[in-house]
Amino acid sequence: MDNKYFNVADIFGENVFNDSVMQERLPKKTYQKLKQTIAEGKELDIETADVIAHEMKEWAIEKGATHYTHWFQPLTGVTAEKHDSFISAPMENGKILMSFSGKELIKGEPDASSFPSGGLRATFEARGYTAWDPTSPAFVREDAAGAILCIPTAFCSYTGEALDQKTPLLRSMEVVSEQAIRLLRLFGNTTSKRVIPSVGAEQEYFLIDREHFLARKDLQYTGRTLFGAMPPKGQEMDDHYFGTIPERIESYMRDVNIELWKLGVSSKTQHNEVAPAQHELAPIYAQANVAVDHNQIIMETLRKVANRHGLQCLLHEKPFAGVNGSGKHNNWSLVTDDGINLFEPGKNPHDNIQFLLILTLIMQAVDKHADLLRESAADIGNDHRLGADEAPPAIISIFLGEQLEDVLEQLISTGSATHSKKGEKLDTGVKTLPDFRKDATDRNRTSPFAFTGNKFEFRMVGSQDSVGEPNIVLNTIMAEAFSDACDILEQAEDFELAVHNMIKELATKHQRIVFSGNGYSNEWREEAARRGLPNISSTVDAIPALTTDKAIELFERFGVFTRIELESRAEIEYEQYAKAINIEAKTMIDVTSKQIIPAVMNYTTEIGLSINTVVDACPDADVSTQRELLLEICDLLRDTRVAMSKLQDDVTEGQQIKGDNEKRAHFYHDVVAVDMAALRAPIDALEMIVDKEAWPMPSYGDMIFEV
Ligand code: ADP
Ligand code: MG
Repeated sequence: MDNKYFNVADIFGENVFNDSVMQERLPKKTYQKLKQTIAEGKELDIETADVIAHEMKEWAIEKGATHYTHWFQPLTGVTAEKHDSFISAPMENGKILMSFSGKELIKGEPDASSFPSGGLRATFEARGYTAWDPTSPAFVREDAAGAILCIPTAFCSYTGEALDQKTPLLRSMEVVSEQAIRLLRLFGNTTSKRVIPSVGAEQEYFLIDREHFLARKDLQYTGRTLFGAMPPKGQEMDDHYFGTIPERIESYMRDVNIELWKLGVSSKTQHNEVAPAQHELAPIYAQANVAVDHNQIIMETLRKVANRHGLQCLLHEKPFAGVNGSGKHNNWSLVTDDGINLFEPGKNPHDNIQFLLILTLIMQAVDKHADLLRESAADIGNDHRLGADEAPPAIISIFLGEQLEDVLEQLISTGSATHSKKGEKLDTGVKTLPDFRKDATDRNRTSPFAFTGNKFEFRMVGSQDSVGEPNIVLNTIMAEAFSDACDILEQAEDFELAVHNMIKELATKHQRIVFSGNGYSNEWREEAARRGLPNISSTVDAIPALTTDKAIELFERFGVFTRIELESRAEIEYEQYAKAINIEAKTMIDVTSKQIIPAVMNYTTEIGLSINTVVDACPDADVSTQRELLLEICDLLRDTRVAMSKLQDDVTEGQQIKGDNEKRAHFYHDVVAVDMAALRAPIDALEMIVDKEAWPMPSYGDMIFEV
């Protein structure tokens, strides 16, 4: 867009086949049929699909689209697509027609064998199907290659097993709605028809200069730096967060926003993050499956637009060791179709029995399934954050804030809550400023699962991961909690008394999951161990949560995953883990042997020559410092060689472990990753003493301060 000033309302959603477009373009009957199908979650009949497909194609062609794609999220984390052009077979007169049928709209058939299936493929068939998710609108994406109609779809195997994130997410949304409605009915709500999980995902990312990126093989192959000494200045000055955004970045953010707005993504907030070169983008929340799709669009857009600005967007959780990493905050709530937020405590939470019951049900769900929530945030990049001294700790706990904690205390100690603490007035000392009330649900940035007013913020998710998985878990564990509660309450003779007893019982039983102190501290680790809360520090240790009896029972009971689907997911995660570390290790070896060792050798020659030159010119000169430096470098060079050859040997061994993904993943975690750290140490030490001019790649300082 050339025009510097424009009205967001004019462009918002202009590339989306959204409700208003459909209402305008579709015959009334077709539109109503579609709406009904969506509302009832039924399958679309082929005649209706044909009409929609035709109109969608006409609309897309007007927007310049030449191709369409079924846009889906296989289990690799990134979205996948196969582009098909709209053209049909040439006619006799040599011309062609542009066509797009209902069948092509609702079903695609990508070759499933190129996507991970964790054994499902072997058991079933290579074929996979994509099926249109009419609840997430189609959109036209513009890029350098032209414009393409993207149809958000679910991806299943021939026999219906989910090979993606969307299918189980949609299943989980249905079941939580069903069970929540059951509970609402008990409280006398007769009007709400559905409960919709709502999600707002705040996305963190780094931006660096593309030239720097291109000069670092580690960033290119693995998304993170595998070497790098800390710069003299890091984030200790706290001057970046909410600091002024540099013009280059501002112009980037503006373009990102325009792209997102056109795609109907309500990008709302942007600011710098804690680390230098780190930023954040947050959209306004939407229903879970749309929010998950939008988060994928956001990540794609952040990457794509960066290249246009000579920048590189890094979505890895930990691109720079020692510098704050990136995550995603998954803000989640349950809202009825008529706008009631089930997590809204109101002014007097102690009086709000429905809210208190739901709150204690959340405590129960999170306490019971902490391992599953932890697993849903596990990925190889996130291993560098969780359990390290930053971001949320690997231990799941809930932060409720002073007000709710106090209400719970009252409930537990006396059996009933009689009052709610109010937020205090903040006195700014300035008369013209409005009165600020301190939020009674103050903040705690170290908690992985924090109540923030009328939603929970799950902060553990990794920056490049799909938010699909955590929301599948959240919805399903809540469905279970609602369902179990309803089973009891529906039979109760005295409903109020039964609710009251249940709240007290649950609050007491699951109080251990509530924690408001500093989640990064060692004391918390000790305290959590005393409370018996799991502390799962790595992905390989988190994966087993998927296939425990508890998990299988939960997911099968609500039809969200079958045992086979869970087992295949665990297989895929082990496999991906080993593969990713294997690539990192090989990249390390490559860069060390082809770039770092040669550069350091050249540098030692230079020092040697310089010593000779000095001694020739001045035989009495004291060159002991140069000699010491040379000696130190040579020692580190030797350490590097030794560490590299150990890494090489172990990678070879790891590659030979075949057929057992779990064993292989553990080997890469226990042995190869440890070797990598051992190789990194002498190299980072070398970087500190070798002439900057001689170092073969940009430094941390170059990358994070020169954008
Ligand atoms: P905070 O400052 O508490 O993080 P923000 O207002 O900045 O809150 O919102 C952060 C994200 O949470 C945004 O994406 C926002 O749209 C989303 N959000 C706000 N309310 C809800 C809600 N009820 N359910 C889900 N997400 C929400
Ligand atoms: Mg937030």
